[in-house]
Amino acid sequence: MKILLASLETATGLPEIVGFIFVFALGAIVGSFLNVVIHRVPNEESIVFPNSACPKCKTPIKFYDNIPVLSWLILGGKCRNCKEAISPRYPAVELLTALLYVLIYWQIGFNPYLAVSLVFVTAIVSLIFIDAEHMILPNVITYPLLVYALLVRLAFPLLLSAEYFTDLYFAPLTYFQHYPLWLVSLFGAVLGGLVGGGFLWLVGAVWKLLRGVDAMGLGDVKMMFAVGAFLGWRLTILSIFLGAFSGAVIGILVIYRQKEKDLQAQIPFGIFLGIGTILSLLFGEQLIKWYLETFVP
Ligand SMILES: [Zn+2]
Repeated sequence: MKILLASLETATGLPEIVGFIFVFALGAIVGSFLNVVIHRVPNEESIVFPNSACPKCKTPIKFYDNIPVLSWLILGGKCRNCKEAISPRYPAVELLTALLYVLIYWQIGFNPYLAVSLVFVTAIVSLIFIDAEHMILPNVITYPLLVYALLVRLAFPLLLSAEYFTDLYFAPLTYFQHYPLWLVSLFGAVLGGLVGGGFLWLVGAVWKLLRGVDAMGLGDVKMMFAVGAFLGWRLTILSIFLGAFSGAVIGILVIYRQKEKDLQAQIPFGIFLGIGTILSLLFGEQLIKWYLETFVP
């Protein structure tokens, strides 16, 4: 999705590698904060107080033992005080967030849409891991994400540029060209939200009708409403498709490995919707272009 080909080098004179190092470090620090969010938000605990402590001996973690990824490696994955093993999930989340930040920078480049995309992806990563661990997608993340998406879709056409929102160049939004751009952009956000949230709601309703169980939580609906508002209807449909595809592949592997085929269990589908969303943000436009060139005569 290289829409505005601004580079750090042309904008500031700094070599491109500086940008990559900066977003990697930023991603690792944000990932460290996400570990706190993932752990505390579902339990409705404050994400500011108290400071992180060892879950076993309750010793507060010193700032020099709280360097993303590095500290875990230096300490050999153990608490400095009681030697209790620290889950590799912590450095994994930090490393993953750092690598995602690098990927986004590589795809989007040095422009205002980079900053808003990093915030968006950070929220999605937190939802993925919270769903994996607690099987919920908390309202305290999905609701603000929706408000955020609407604000971005409103503010960009007014203050910066709307060319980042690719849905504006496709039907049905092209029919509204005589309206102010900010209104079309906002309409695109609502449409994307209805497509994303509506589709998930429909799947849940049909499933309940057929099987009599709630397979899809309302959290998935709210999450995809927010994603739809941010990405627009085209990239949102792709997100759901990529999510369903990755979910099916991983689901088959899991069911194949565990002999008891418990298909009634609630699926933490937010994980796969989140993966689909990130892939769609990163490579969506390229994927759609490739698909149309390859399969549509
Ligand atoms: Zn300890």
